[in-house]
Amino acid sequence: MRIVLLGPPGAGKGTQADLLRKRLEVPVLSSGDLLREAVRRGDPVGQEASRYMESGALVPDDVVVGLILERLRSIGPSQSFVLDGFPRTEHQARVLEERLAGEGQAPIDVVVDFQMEEEKVVERLAGRRICGACGTVYHLRTLRPARADRCDRCGGRLEVREDDRPETIRRRLAVYREQTEPLLEHYEQQGKLRRLSGEMEIEAQYQALIDLLHREGLR
Ligand code: AMP
Repeated sequence: MRIVLLGPPGAGKGTQADLLRKRLEVPVLSSGDLLREAVRRGDPVGQEASRYMESGALVPDDVVVGLILERLRSIGPSQSFVLDGFPRTEHQARVLEERLAGEGQAPIDVVVDFQMEEEKVVERLAGRRICGACGTVYHLRTLRPARADRCDRCGGRLEVREDDRPETIRRRLAVYREQTEPLLEHYEQQGKLRRLSGEMEIEAQYQALIDLLHREGLR
């Protein structure tokens, strides 16, 4: 099954994608993670992307599409995958559809919209921390590291993501409303859109997501 996770920042897409990866062993393609890796490496793509990311704007379509399509090459034509944070514009969605169809690949089956009130997003993102070395994500209330300020996985220092500062969160929410929300209509018209509350606790949300995917035919 090919799944797209949509929704505002902080609604739990990345956390749930990670659980799907660990528990169902399905590959996850996260555009945000791929971009942050490029930024950490300091290569030209990363250098260009970081200017946009720090301000809360979307990275230009061609940069993100390039990264995702490159990753897609390692995935078999009917293999399952989860897309987290991609597509985020109608253009990205169309390019993805064309690429999958053009290469005889299976299409996206289901798009899950994680719904969350804007005020809750701001509250939730304020508690998010990320490992500066390996990118693992934590939350001070819901996903606590064993040692404060240190990554459980690699011991790296935990940081506030540059774009999780309150002013930048507001910008990201506005960008979401203007550029990503129209995508919901795109997938609604294709009959692929399903809605899920983004406001649940992590395990409850995972269970609701799995129930939804089973109803859509996940075996
Ligand atoms: P995320 O981790 O998904 O919240 O993404 C962090 C940032 O990376 C976003 O605020 C954007 O600047 C950039 N980004 C991630 N995915 C995309 C995408 N599909 N299109 C454009 N920019 C993206």
